Amino acid sequence: MAKPNQVKQRIEKLRAEINHHNYRYYVLDSPEVSDAEYDELMQELQGLEEEYPQFLTPDSPTQRVGAAPVEAFGVVEHRYPLLSLGNAFSQEELTAWYNRISKLMGGEKLDFTCEHKIDGLAVALTYVNGQFATGATRGDGLRGEDISQNLKTVRSIPLSVPRDAPPRFEVRGEVFLPKAGFEKLNRERAKEGLPLFANPRNAAAGSVRQLDPRITAKRPLDIYIYMLGYAEDKATPPTHWETMEYLKSLGFKVNPDNQFLNSIEEVEEYYTKWVERRESLPYEADGIVVKVNQIELQERLGEVGREPRWAVAYKFPAIQGTTVLKSIEISVGRTGTLNPYAVLEPVAVSGVTIKQAALHNEDDIRRKDIRVGDTVVIQRAGEVIPQVVGPVVSKRSGKEKEFSLLDRLPKNDKGRPICPECGKDSIVKPEGEVMYYCSNASCPAQAQQRIEHFASRGAMDIEGIGEAQSAILFNHGLVKNAAELYKLEEKRAELLKLENTGEKSVDNLLKAIDDSKNRPLARVIFALGIRHIGGETAEILAKRFRSIETLSKASRVELMRIEAIGPKIADSILAFFRQEENQQIIRGLKDAGVKLKEKAKTEEMPLAGKEFVITGRLESFSRQEAEEKIKDLGGTAKENVTQKTTYLVVGEEPGGTKLAKAQELGTKQIDEKKLLRLLEGKAL
Ligand code: NAD
Repeated sequence: MAKPNQVKQRIEKLRAEINHHNYRYYVLDSPEVSDAEYDELMQELQGLEEEYPQFLTPDSPTQRVGAAPVEAFGVVEHRYPLLSLGNAFSQEELTAWYNRISKLMGGEKLDFTCEHKIDGLAVALTYVNGQFATGATRGDGLRGEDISQNLKTVRSIPLSVPRDAPPRFEVRGEVFLPKAGFEKLNRERAKEGLPLFANPRNAAAGSVRQLDPRITAKRPLDIYIYMLGYAEDKATPPTHWETMEYLKSLGFKVNPDNQFLNSIEEVEEYYTKWVERRESLPYEADGIVVKVNQIELQERLGEVGREPRWAVAYKFPAIQGTTVLKSIEISVGRTGTLNPYAVLEPVAVSGVTIKQAALHNEDDIRRKDIRVGDTVVIQRAGEVIPQVVGPVVSKRSGKEKEFSLLDRLPKNDKGRPICPECGKDSIVKPEGEVMYYCSNASCPAQAQQRIEHFASRGAMDIEGIGEAQSAILFNHGLVKNAAELYKLEEKRAELLKLENTGEKSVDNLLKAIDDSKNRPLARVIFALGIRHIGGETAEILAKRFRSIETLSKASRVELMRIEAIGPKIADSILAFFRQEENQQIIRGLKDAGVKLKEKAKTEEMPLAGKEFVITGRLESFSRQEAEEKIKDLGGTAKENVTQKTTYLVVGEEPGGTKLAKAQELGTKQIDEKKLLRLLEGKAL
């Protein structure tokens, strides 16, 4: 049995990982792992929290829905929270759910409505006096993003309803992109060199969560309404099924494959029928949703944590296939990671031919005991990159070979492994990390991907520079690093010579580059591509340091004082800024006029109105740095103590005059520790 502190560590690690994936999925619409993998992490966490309830905290991702809304959209408070759904992954789990709620309802007869669980995103639409008033995302369940203008472009959302509709009501539904629309969109994006959407869900979310409704309008989005949120001043039907019929009569689009069912056995039949037919559906569905039909019983069952008790998502099995693992190759990622990937005997899995699949790292390959030559199970769960689940051990002939990353790498004449891209003897594996890296900062594979990352959504968001375009620019020597993007203006003639590049697209590209100069600081920090710095950490760093320059001068101690930052991240930041090449890029960005600092918002100015005088030597920073920090947080820093001075900060070997003056005026004196508290926004 594991020791409690080991369990606690595992729980914390799982939470950090899940939070990271939530952010990628819900905020950036760009997940890094398959849903099946995410579900595995979540199940492990739920299991541990059930077994060790002493470690359950209200901020655990098992207790929360989605992610906080992005403020730029405007925020809508939901009158009633939009919840998530509990899952059943097998018949046993469905039966367990049924038994649980039957017992709670004292054996009362339960009816059900079954619906497809479409992979899109939940929206809440409010109608006031017959007119569509607001449309919002689920956000964190309590507060969503106001995407009314975007939703107005979805043709199947009625903008008005008949007069006899309730004067104010809210309906909820799933906005989605049909499979055909998704594939078309990705084909177009590939042509334009834009990053592809991982699956229809992310494409739908990315389409609806646009600050420019004209982009949403171009996407073939659709909606099915699946619930009435509330209705004022009008009685509504007593069952879910009848409510859906009623909403249909008001003009809402309700899925015609919904079915009213009398028993849990019929639910199972509905499920089996749709598992077989899911491929023929025009949209991606990852299961069915089973809902207790009687609304009075729904209310009595209520909810637990983030899930209603009266409904469950009965998930379809992930789509799997088996094939032979021909070899394991290695590609070099943006941060220099050496990523192993599987080259497979081509196999069709649910209509898509798969030739390659992701493998995470050497440890993972060993843990799953995947060997070259193995027959392996691969899995697609709606997403574009399939995963290798594991080997079919019973099919082994004995000739399969274990994988070693170092053995697989090419060697130089001294027999040392070299980077498959730049050919340098630059392979390292930092202590405590699972990945090997190429440490050559000018490795071309990395340089090109760093440009691509810099321009990507979530970073500087430069339309027109995706994988293909950044490769073209890099390979033609037009852009060697991110800062050089801003010099493309001078290379107009050369740009025009590139294949398929007309005047108009060059104009658009240059405009998009120019437009990116004012992105928020957090985006710039993220765009720099510092190892281990994701969007969330970038936000924290931007808020704390307010400029790239201050961040670049931060000490290890200063960085580690921030809650979200441990030694690994701190070292990575320090290493990044130590490299002259990176300093050059930053200078280039500054010269080009890219915004590299940001004023704190008024509500983030805890020192506003406070005047500081510093005397003596400080430990953590120079006096000038301390003064800059005070100013960043809205305070002022002066040379001499006067009536207006709020605090005299007393360091080592303070000056007598300032101390005496402060004593005379009764000015409050604080030490460096207290100053640090104030700089962290804390009370003394
Ligand atoms: P969920 O998607 O499993 O279930 C709740 C949602 O189902 C609702 O919000 C609604 O949008 C949708 N839904 C579709 N049809 C419905 C219907 N007929 N009735 C009611 N609701 C319907 O839960 P969630 O909390 O949104 O997301 C969790 C899931 O998202 C995970 O299981 C995982 O698969 C995926 N996820 C993946 C990653 C990743 O990194 N890959 C990250 C976060 C979440």
